[in-house]
Amino acid sequence: MYRQPNDRRRLARKTAGQQFHSIHSATNKDDILTIEHAIVRTKPKPWGSTDLRPWSQASTSDGPIGELWFERPSLPQSLPHSLAKGLAAPETALLLKLLLTTEPLSIQVHPDDAFARSIGLANGKTEAWYILSAVAGAKVAVGLNYPRSAAELRTAITDGSIANIVHWHPVHQGDVISIPAGTIHAIGAGIVLAEIQQYSDATFRLFDYGRQRELHIENAVAVATAGPREVQAPPEQLSDARIVLTVNPYFALEQIDLAPGSVWRLDAPKETWLLAIEGHAQLGSTTLSLGDAVFLQADHADIEAGADGLKALLAYPGPTINPGALTERSAVGRIRHASLGAPLAPTSPGRAALEQPEASNWPL
Ligand SMILES: [Zn+2]
Repeated sequence: MYRQPNDRRRLARKTAGQQFHSIHSATNKDDILTIEHAIVRTKPKPWGSTDLRPWSQASTSDGPIGELWFERPSLPQSLPHSLAKGLAAPETALLLKLLLTTEPLSIQVHPDDAFARSIGLANGKTEAWYILSAVAGAKVAVGLNYPRSAAELRTAITDGSIANIVHWHPVHQGDVISIPAGTIHAIGAGIVLAEIQQYSDATFRLFDYGRQRELHIENAVAVATAGPREVQAPPEQLSDARIVLTVNPYFALEQIDLAPGSVWRLDAPKETWLLAIEGHAQLGSTTLSLGDAVFLQADHADIEAGADGLKALLAYPGPTINPGALTERSAVGRIRHASLGAPLAPTSPGRAALEQPEASNWPL
């Protein structure tokens, strides 16, 4: 693991934007050290919300926003804006989003990798949700209420009765729902959730509440498990600060709770996403506040929890938990502060919302 001397001071020189991009001489692209403040891209959706508070200050003047995608910045911000414009962000294996619903989403299913590749897609999609808020009575559907044959499933999709045979259940803040590929699922109205998923747009729609979007009956029947959901393992408390919410071959999702003023080392040997969901913290020269996300890869960062602590979601590739992902360094941190002697850089402007009007929505 590379160590970066005077990490905080080095980052502090790049105060122009939210992004810190460090590249060491490396022989392998996986060794490129990266800490970036994610940008947020808004996605208009017919079921979305015009009130994104407190998660985002992005404009909703053009209509409801359903999804906020956290993305790596396309290029270091030292480049002129005209050059950076139009360039795609670097690819990631995982996609982190917030979803805000005022109407139910379609009932849908995602293929596994094998099926996705058989129809020319890069990979399938397993996803997981963390409920950030839910109005009273808000619900999600996961799996069917009891097993059906493929023929019965096809009939239920065709005549719309699928909405009555999926298993709906209420959700509350803090609930975690794992959706392995092949699980029929839907998200109801009145929910804000964080979603971590394999980066994929392989979605087959079974029912769309009369919104006239295309259904994908044959593919849905081919990939769906026509029965109740898999049993989901309960969250596992790893330490005072870490709870494993769910882990599968594609990603691990943890909740971390950092006490006010405590200092931690976050180790990210592989692609890692950190999303603040309560409180705030200082990470390098940037402040991480509610709704902000950071991307790290082959790097580590010191996190100093703010006066009200920090609660965050941490996601990285599976299939196993990284036991060394988070190490308390409170004493070390205080010494470093004292010896460094440099003033902290001004905090970044926070999240940047890129509004991207879309002619057609992703097939959610
Ligand atoms: Zn889905």
